[in-house]
Amino acid sequence: MIQLKTPEEVDAIARGGAIIADFLVEVHPRIEPGISTLDLDRFADDFIRSHAGASPAFKGLYGFSGSVCTSLNEEVVHGIPKADRTLVDGDIISIDVGVKLDGWCSDSAWTFPVGEIDEDTQHLLEVTKDALDQAVSATVLESSVGDIGAAVVARVKGTGLSIIKDLVGHGVGREVHEEPQVPNIGQSGTGPALREGMVLAIEPMLSCGTAEIQTLSDRWTVVTRDGTRSAHFEHTVAVTPAGPRILTAVPAEAAA
Ligand code: MG
Ligand code: MG
Repeated sequence: MIQLKTPEEVDAIARGGAIIADFLVEVHPRIEPGISTLDLDRFADDFIRSHAGASPAFKGLYGFSGSVCTSLNEEVVHGIPKADRTLVDGDIISIDVGVKLDGWCSDSAWTFPVGEIDEDTQHLLEVTKDALDQAVSATVLESSVGDIGAAVVARVKGTGLSIIKDLVGHGVGREVHEEPQVPNIGQSGTGPALREGMVLAIEPMLSCGTAEIQTLSDRWTVVTRDGTRSAHFEHTVAVTPAGPRILTAVPAEAAA
């Protein structure tokens, strides 16, 4: 069942979302060659818990060991933070963050360049972020969940990039993952109607090569099957009469 949120509940989710947005701004300058993904995880855990009542929503979720997911290069999602995994110039790293505050969850992800990245990787990041923006713009009353995926498809068409179709966005609320699923490949006018009070994590994931994925033997890390790079951007968004409201909005400083 899709749980609709009252305006007050949407505000409560936005308060947690603001912690994520602030975290993404604060972590950005720390993303440099030599830092480990565990260092970033510890920073995230400390930062989130420094806000009264807030905790990292992914810690322990389904048994995950980290406070955030750190996925490098060909890793699409669910990378486990590790002390011996250090960033190298030219890498990209996706940090996926969930916060629980006063019983409400919010969820966002951002893919950052590490030092200088090549042109193809820059293209991947730009198109993926743009696909998120287009998908958010499509999250309006009178539309449907299929319109969100259709917006991703329209943006990605002709770019040479692939949409990872086996991973989807989702409702967010008391739980990190609620109904409905929000596929990144959609057809306009299909799927559940968008209604006031729906709160959705919208999260396009693209790759430079195949759309096929596999899970590594650690049972968490999802990688592209052909080893090409993948990017992931995500916002938690509320459907409101005034249009889509991004509850994890990142100030422009984090966008570089
Ligand atoms: Mg996420
Ligand atoms: Mg999510």
